Parts: sequence; structure tokens; C-alpha cells
Amino acid sequence: MEATPTPTPAPNLVSSSLADVRARIANSCAACGRQPIQLIAVSKTKPIPLLEAAYAAGQRHFGENYVQELVTKAAHMPMDIKWHFIGALQSNKAKMLVGVPNLYMVESVDREKVARALDKAVGDMQREGRLKVMVQVNTSGEDSKSGCAPGETIELARFVDEECAKLELVGLMTIGAPDEAEEPVAFRVLREEREKVARELGRGVGELILSMGMSEDFERAIRMGSDSVRVGSTIFGEREYPKKE
Ligand SMILES: *Cc1c(COP(=O)(O)O)cnc(C)c1O
Repeated sequence: MEATPTPTPAPNLVSSSLADVRARIANSCAACGRQPIQLIAVSKTKPIPLLEAAYAAGQRHFGENYVQELVTKAAHMPMDIKWHFIGALQSNKAKMLVGVPNLYMVESVDREKVARALDKAVGDMQREGRLKVMVQVNTSGEDSKSGCAPGETIELARFVDEECAKLELVGLMTIGAPDEAEEPVAFRVLREEREKVARELGRGVGELILSMGMSEDFERAIRMGSDSVRVGSTIFGEREYPKKE
């Protein structure tokens, strides 16, 4: 089936939608007495000029879902960008991904095999320091979403923490599910998983951050304690194919 082309905003619209998203984040944070949290601009499928517009407007954290696309864009964009990989990762692509010098974080570690591949890649490529990673949890139970089952979070987090010397576990990520509730179930589940992981690993809850909230629900995610929101279409315009993780 042919994808129906949908409008992509002009670069000058990117800076205004970005400003709008930032203002909404600031308001939501102020309402719960917090400093503005991190915004990741999810630029998957979007052309370089739109990323450049966001960069010119001061955006530095960008998120991508596909390894090849991140590698290509990283080579074309300034080096002070902090790239977040947020897509499903095949372990055989770990090396290519880790080869991006300004890869900042991999948020989508959902099984031991991926953690092990990233750990090995960081070691093999003699990358400096540890690579920040998050464990992705499938909080909605939908088969279409990646992430480990909530019941597996502790085990996977422990594996990263204890067996992967080159990785630094910094938090948990989830996509969630469409949920109009004031307190979406998926976000509550992620928060509970963090408490369990912190307890099991002997870390403070505040040492593990939560990456949750996208275009449709980032304000509710902030109210529920998100530390990092990943916003794509509200900044860059709708994508030309269904949303995928
Ligand atoms: C695409 C994507 C986003 C951004 O989605 P929008 O609804 O466009 O804001 C955030 N997180 C992940 C993991 C994604 O795949």
C-alpha cells in the first residue's frame, strides 16, 4: 500500500512548535514544583533541514529509532548533539551504533542479548567511559511494543548493572499505550518497576530516571514523575507511516 504523504512543516515552523512544546513542559513542571525536565526531539524519518532548524533553536538531545538513520544523520549534524537510540535494536547492529562518537544513550535495552552486544561493542571499540543505557519495559502488554515484560525488569536491570562493565544503567523507558486517564496505567507500572529495581540494586529511586511521555501524553507523564520526554510529531509534523517503536 502506498503511504499517503502528509505535510512536513517548514523549518521555521519547527522552531515555533519546539518553543511551544518547551513552554508546555515548563508549565507542567512548574505545576508540580519541578525544574523543566529533559526534552528529546524524536526526529526519525525527518529530513536533515528540520533537524538543523531544531538545532538552531537550541535543541541538543535528539532521538532516532533506526541504526542506519542515526549513523547517517549523526555524520551530517554537529558533534555536540546528544543522540538517543530509542528503537528496537538487533544485536548485530550494536557495533555500528556504538561507533557513533556522540551516541549519548541507548534507551531501548529489552533483553540480555542486546545488553551483552552493546557491552562488547563498547569494549571492542575502546569507547571512552561507560555507555548510558535504559531498560525498556513493555508496560502495555501489547505484542506490537518492544520492551521486556514488567516481571523481567529486575533481572534485566541486574544483568546490566552487574554483568556489563561498560554499560551504565541510568533508568527505565516505556512507550505506554493510548490511555485517556489522568494517571495512565503504563506510567504507574514504570514507576513501580523503578522502585523495585532501586530496592533490588540497592540504589536510591532518584538515581534511576524515567523516560516516558510522547506527543500525546507528555504532560501527563510529567505529572507522574517523568524525567525525560520523547516528542516527535508535535515538533516535526506527522510521520508518513504508522507510529512504531
Ligand atoms: C516515535 C517515538 C516517539 C515519538 O512519538 P511521537 O508520538 O511522534 O511524539 C517516542 N518514543 C519512541 C520510542 C518512539 O518510537
